[in-house]
Amino acid sequence: MDKKYYDEKIRKIPNFPKEGILFYDITTLLEDPRAFQSCIDDLYDYFKFDNIDKVVGIDARGFLLASTLAYKLGAGVSIVRKKGKLPYKTKSSQYEKEYGSDTLEMHEDAIKPEEKVIIIDDLLATGGTILGSIDLVKQMGGEIIGIGCIIALTFLPGLQKLRELGYKVSYLIDYDNEKISSNIKIGIIGGSGLDDPEFLQNYSQIDVDTPYGKPSSLLITGKLNGVEVVFLSRHGKDHSIMPTRVLYQANIWALKEIGCTHIIATTACGSLREYIKPGDFVFPDQCIDATKQRALTFFEDKVVHTPLADPFCQQLRNILSDTAKAISLPCHNKGTVITIEGPRFSTRAESNMYRLWSADVINMSTCPEMALARELGMCYQPIAMSTDYDCWKENETPVTFEMVMEKMKQNSENVKKLIILALPKIQFTECVCKKSD
Ligand SMILES: [Zn+2]
Repeated sequence: MDKKYYDEKIRKIPNFPKEGILFYDITTLLEDPRAFQSCIDDLYDYFKFDNIDKVVGIDARGFLLASTLAYKLGAGVSIVRKKGKLPYKTKSSQYEKEYGSDTLEMHEDAIKPEEKVIIIDDLLATGGTILGSIDLVKQMGGEIIGIGCIIALTFLPGLQKLRELGYKVSYLIDYDNEKISSNIKIGIIGGSGLDDPEFLQNYSQIDVDTPYGKPSSLLITGKLNGVEVVFLSRHGKDHSIMPTRVLYQANIWALKEIGCTHIIATTACGSLREYIKPGDFVFPDQCIDATKQRALTFFEDKVVHTPLADPFCQQLRNILSDTAKAISLPCHNKGTVITIEGPRFSTRAESNMYRLWSADVINMSTCPEMALARELGMCYQPIAMSTDYDCWKENETPVTFEMVMEKMKQNSENVKKLIILALPKIQFTECVCKKSD
């Protein structure tokens, strides 16, 4: 049968097991007698000339397919289970999951040396359980002839990984995303270096205009790690727009106009605390606006007082800081950022005063970006990269522009990694940030 046929038989459940994920449910396919039959027949066709001795089924939906297929192939069936479920002596194999690992087991005599084996599961995603099962079969001396499944999720690395290792992988249908083709689009402000055709699929550059003028740069759109993103260089492509001259309204308006639901804003900052070292990441939860001459609101003709007690998005902050921790980046999951007008750096007296005000890091860009984003109902969270100790600290060279740029360069690979890994986890659309008015 063709893919379209199977696609119609597979039920799609949005927001399961969590919001934003589209779950492919094969129980509807199995319950349809003809669909189930063609599914087994098609898998049979892939392996019918291979003289298979054993079909290995993976806990639990893999059992349903493996046993039926084994019957048709005239083969035996062996099972792979999670640790602790099998009664006899076992072989075990650890496999990596997104965080941490899990252990699979098979009875130690489930496969005889040189038996020809295929491994069957319902769905191929990251490939962890299948790689673990391959390891078990090999420990017993079996020969892997191939891997079969109903669905392959081609936007995850499993299929490619298995093929690179030289395994024959057969599947009946593939899907290239698990997003409900919604609505999530992430604006990324700053010079993260990811706005490059090297990283983006469907790369394009868009020249937009807004009622507040042109944004600082062309908008660069595309897909990064499966997620729709839009890049904007806050200070222009060649870093020529000083903080006071940035048209913050135009930037935020343009991102809203193009459909952004969330904004991640990268920013260099100075550290006002001993424990925030140059190179550390800070995901601020508070800010102080010490700017002097910037357009602060979209509501210029009517009086609107936007609540901003919590200026940043807690959900984005949690995702970013969890991701940073998972890849061992030095980071702080809260802190107060103070935004000064610039372009000059602080005096020592100012720097010490900001410390007394309880500011932890200092920059020239977060305000009014965060307030404008809130006015338009977008979730906004800065990633602040500490580059120096400003000038308050005794025995440290006061900050210079060269120090900032040098540290930013060193940190750019970490920022890229952090953003790429965090993006697919941003799946929420409901947030307190959107309920400001
Ligand atoms: Zn939010």
